[in-house]
This record gives sequence, C-alpha cells and structure tokens, in this order.
Amino acid sequence: MSTVRQALTALGRETAGRSMMDLAAELYPIPRSLTGDGVRETLDRIARRIPLQVHELPTGTPVLDWTVPREWNPREAWIRDPSGRRVVDFADHNLHLVGYSAPVHRRLPLNELRPHLHSLPEQPGLIPYRTSYYEETWGFCLPHRLLESLPDGEYEVFIDASLEDGSMTWGECLLPGSSAEEVLVSAHVCHPQLANDNLSGIAVAVHLAEALAAVPDRRYSYRFLFAPGGIGAIAWLARNRDRLDSFRHGLIAANLGDGGAFHYKRSRRGDHEIDRAVAAALAGLGEDLVTEDFFPFGYDERQYCSPGFDLPVGVLTRTPWGRYPEYHTSADDLSFIGAEALAGSLAAYLATAAALEEGPGASESPPAVAEGGRKSAGGRRYRNLEPFGEPQLGRRGLYGGLGGAGRKEFEIAMLWVLNQSDGEHSLDDIAERSGLPFERISEAAEALREAGLLGRKGEPE
Ligand code: ZN
Repeated sequence: MSTVRQALTALGRETAGRSMMDLAAELYPIPRSLTGDGVRETLDRIARRIPLQVHELPTGTPVLDWTVPREWNPREAWIRDPSGRRVVDFADHNLHLVGYSAPVHRRLPLNELRPHLHSLPEQPGLIPYRTSYYEETWGFCLPHRLLESLPDGEYEVFIDASLEDGSMTWGECLLPGSSAEEVLVSAHVCHPQLANDNLSGIAVAVHLAEALAAVPDRRYSYRFLFAPGGIGAIAWLARNRDRLDSFRHGLIAANLGDGGAFHYKRSRRGDHEIDRAVAAALAGLGEDLVTEDFFPFGYDERQYCSPGFDLPVGVLTRTPWGRYPEYHTSADDLSFIGAEALAGSLAAYLATAAALEEGPGASESPPAVAEGGRKSAGGRRYRNLEPFGEPQLGRRGLYGGLGGAGRKEFEIAMLWVLNQSDGEHSLDDIAERSGLPFERISEAAEALREAGLLGRKGEPE
C-alpha cells in the first residue's frame, strides 16, 4: 500500500469539506481576471496554505503563438439611470462588469447604451459572465428583468479601470518526490465571483497539495499550477518547453463542487496511464464515472493536448462546463457548491494519485506512431504548422468575423483540424471523430491553409 493510499484512507472528509468551503468563500469576492491584482490576491491567499512560487511575465512577452496581454485592474464601475440612481454597480457583484472593459465616463441615451448591456433572456433573474480579452470594448452584465425595466432617458456610465502594460501572474506549488517525474494538477484562476467554475477546482487542488505534502516517500513530484485559462497555460508551456520530458501525467481540476456525477475527459491519445488511473480510482471509491473522449475545446487541455505537445492530460470534473444552468452566471455562487461534493472530489483526486503511485509509471512505453485514432486508407492529410498550443485565430481574422448560424460549427471545425492534423489523420478521419459534416471540416482546412496554419503532408513548410 502506498503512503498516498494511506492518506486517502485517513482523509477526514467532513473537516476537509468544511475547509474547502471556507477557502471558496474567502476567495469568492475577489475580482479576478486574466491578469491583475485579483489574481495576485488569490495567489497570496493560496500561499498561506501551501508553498507557492509566484511568476510574473511582462505584457508583450511572446509565448508560443501569443503575446502576454496588457494588465487589467478594475476599481469602480456603475450605471446611473436618468433619475441618478445607480442601477448597476460592480461593487454589488463582480459579474456586472465585462472583464477587460476599457475605462469610460459618458452620458448617453438608452439606445446607445443598449449594445453595451448583456443579459440572459432565458434566465431573466441571473447576471451573465462575459469577458472581452482580445478586443477592446466596455460593457455591463445585468439580469434581463432589470434590463427590461430600464426607462428611456439619459444614462451615466462610469468605469474606472486601468488597462495598461504590466504583467500576467501565475502560481506554482512543487512537491518534490523521490523521482523527478512530475504529475501536474492545473486549475484556472481567471474567473471572478463564480464558485463551481472555478473556486471548486482551486479548493480541491490546494487541499490535494496539502494532503500530498504530508505524505512521506512519494514517488512522483507533484506540481500544482494556478494560472489564468488559455494564455496562462500557453505561457507555462512556453516557459517549460525544455523540461517537459519529466512530465508524466496531468489533470485539469474544475467544476468539482456541484452534486453531479464525476466526468472524465480522456487525453488526446486516450490510452495513457492517467486515463486508466482515473477510471480505476473512481471504481475503487465506488463512484459513478462518465468517461468521454477528447475534443479540442474546453479548458487548458486544448493547449496541453495540442499536437506539438500531445501531453497525457485529462480533465476530471463533476458536471462538465456548459452542462448545468448555473454555469457562467451569478447562480454559480457559494450555495451551488457543497462541502460533501468537494470532499468527494478531493478523495477522487487523492485516489487517482494513489493509483499513479502504485502504477507502472516510468516503464510506460512511448506512444506508438499514429496511436490514438484510426488511420484512414485515403483522404487528404495535413500538418498543423503551429502545433505547439493553439494558434491565435482571432489575429488572423479566423475567429468571430464570419457571422451566421454555421460560424460556431466552423470555429469548432478549425479546432478539430488543427488538433488532429499531425500528418496521420485525414480529413475523413477528422470528420468522423468530430461528428461534424465533412464539408465543414474541409472548409475549415481550406481557411487554415490560406492563413498559413496548415500544410499538405510532404510539402515543405
Ligand atoms: Zn469558465
């Protein structure tokens, strides 16, 4: 029996559950975003519990195909109605302000203000979560019911925020084991006032680190990464590229506090030891587990599992993102998550670590060529020419500008083509695996080819 398994047996679920709820409640009001003081304060509080190394990377630093963005720090933001009453105020809820809103102070009629207001007609009592990281704008989010009740007249909007050169911040906690081989647990820290996505992931990761730190004679080294989603993982990969040969297993922690069943999204290859370890761990705990194949969007698996890196990273959640009505709204609050669910999630992660400690580990054979998907006999095959992380499609005019009902499907088709174009999978294979029409996959490949992101197999780069 590994010492990690002993720690699992000894886990006091009630105390751990309460402690995770306390941490979630402590972090809940902090206005986090991709960058800025909210992330720093969050990391400061995590550092009171586990050893944390904080990294700052300056604005403008190139990372893979991307650049570290400007730093955003909101201070005050509100809308006054024609009678002078503050009808929307960032001080009441962080979600009221669109993330990365530029500063503004204006008076304007309702019809001009309207395009800057976001609501959810289907869920009229809730505030949506919106950001605009890569396109400069400003905006507010509010319950649809409130939006509908706004009288005509002149409004005053005020956003005091800085959007300027600074840095992007992330934190890492490394627990060295007897081997330098690493297990990565990654949680995104860019979401403001939202509990399940992703204070639950942060709380479970912090408590897993605490539990593992207390275990003597661990075989693996464990690295906990608390970084903004997308660009944070891209930056981490860019900075750690030369030491990825010690990377053995990875899990992305999110949506771990709701009462739903566990879901595991397999790594890109789908047959890594981590994929087996999660299934064995959950079975050992007697927990139901829904297992799903990899798809190239979601959380930071889209970066870790880009074809150039193709790291063994899976996503272990309870109800996945987008599949609960509270997702990305003000209803994802502290009442939506619970101590018992969090404690069960912590046990699932600890059991997975125990399974890895007891598994074959280093003796795992390297991937056979063209594993992880069937090879077709025919059909065009391409190579992703920017295979490390996701290429920035927006900068190349490939994201958002197309409009129409097919746009979302087209964007997803591009992600599939980029992820699977390693010279082995044909467009037929990609259409089959993605479940998208061949025509859409073919269109996406053509657009990516025109943008210089895709080459025919065998062509010079
Ligand atoms: Zn989210």
